[in-house]
Order: sequence, then C-alpha cells, then structure tokens
Amino acid sequence: MMQVPILTYHANNITGMDYHSNDHIALAADLKLIQQMGLQVISLEQMMKWHSGQAPDTSVENSVVLTCDDGTDFDFHDLDHPDYGPQSSFLNILKNHQSNTGENVHITNFVIVSPQARLVLDDICLVGKGWWNDSWWSTAQNSGIMHIANHSWDHNHAAFDNPNITDDSFHHIDTKPLCEHQIRQAQDYLLKQVGKDYQASFFAYPYGNYSHYLRHEYLPKYGFELGLQAAFTTEPKHVTKLNQIWSMPRYVCNNDWKKPSQLQRILTQTMD
Ligand SMILES: [Zn+2]
Repeated sequence: MMQVPILTYHANNITGMDYHSNDHIALAADLKLIQQMGLQVISLEQMMKWHSGQAPDTSVENSVVLTCDDGTDFDFHDLDHPDYGPQSSFLNILKNHQSNTGENVHITNFVIVSPQARLVLDDICLVGKGWWNDSWWSTAQNSGIMHIANHSWDHNHAAFDNPNITDDSFHHIDTKPLCEHQIRQAQDYLLKQVGKDYQASFFAYPYGNYSHYLRHEYLPKYGFELGLQAAFTTEPKHVTKLNQIWSMPRYVCNNDWKKPSQLQRILTQTMD
C-alpha cells in the first residue's frame, strides 16, 4: 500500500549546535539524506490531492512531506542566537538546498496565530527579543516554498488564562466555544494577515493531541466550512489512504528520530 511520511521540525529547538540539539542542523542534514535516498519532497497539498483520490499513487511515490510547528522568526529570518550564534532559517535552508541541487522542496509551517500569545511565549519559550512575528507570513506564503497553516490561536499554553488548564495539552478543548476560540478565530486572523488568494487549509493539533469532541464532532461538522481539509497529530506513522482526514499522523524530529540513521530507517518504509 502506498504510504507517505510527514516529518515535523521546530525552529525554536536550539539548545546546541549538533543534530540532536538543533533542528536547523537536523533539517539541513535530513534534506541531504532525502536526496541521497532518491526521495522527493512534495507539499502537503500534493499529498492531500492523492489522499482524497484526485491524484494517482504515482504522484506520491517515494515522497516525503515536510512541516514545521509554532512559527517563530527562526523559521523565516537568519538570526543570531544569543547563546549559539548565527542560525540559518528553515526557509533559507530549503532555498539553499533547492539552488544547490535543482530539486524542488517545500515545507508547511503551522504557526501560533494570536499576536498577544506570541508576545508572551517569546518571553517564556524563546530568548525574549521579539522574534515571534507575523509580518513575514505573506512573503513566506508567496515564496511557494513555505506555506502557512493553523496551529491554533494560543496553543492552549498554560501561560494563558484558558479554562481548565492544568497541564500543556489540547485535551481540554472540548466544547464548541473553546474550539471556536482556538480554531475559527485563528482561521479568520490567518485569512486577514496572509492576504489575497490564501486558503488556510490545514490544522495541526498543539501537543499533537485532541479531545474527543474536537476530533469527532467539531472538525467533522465545521471543518470544511472553516476551509480546512485535514488536521494533523504527532502519531509517529506514515500516512496511508486509510487515515482519516481529522487525525493524520506525523513524525517529530528529535523525538521520533534523533540521528540520520534513525530517520533513514523510517524513510526506508516509504520505499517498500
Ligand atoms: Zn506546537
């Protein structure tokens, strides 16, 4: 059966300058591995065309999809990290790979949408330099290399005044008003901010988990009306046509694999 792996990176994962401590270094190395293995990087949109039966199996043969989460400025801008020095942005890593190899590459960026949330999280989770902006979203989208998608309004982070929060999880988003707050509000802001002709087609669950209500009632009922085509978890599996659109699996870098040889083992399944 045809199967496609989705790989996920976090540009804010910088605690050193090694593969296992820095997703920028991991992404650059993984692109080389993907190329050496003769695999092609396709967009999430291309994968969904196949998944929904609008494109043949051959369109996703030997293919990999790349995604990244949270949408910090490290995704888009080359930045000088105060502890670890200059970091190439994910977008520039992809651009370099493309110009060095002539191979087309693509990544879908699931961004945290609320400006207030990003301001607070910049202090708590980043280096507090105001590096979590939305001013680059439309340029990224128009680059054709990095598409912008929905990673909820505020990630339901424990730092915010959300109801029922006892831990960092998305299990608590289990009523219609909470889902509207996290998903519809984010869709509306994305459409306004990213600009003309943009469609916010994809959602990734913060922490990779969800409530029964969100996954089995809210998204099946309102997802299409919101413009969504699919939602993504962090269940470490390949996508097959048997996966349901509101819980599509993804592998996470430095969680599901921690060195190239481990990724190679995951990707080998792709070619079975
Ligand atoms: Zn996240």
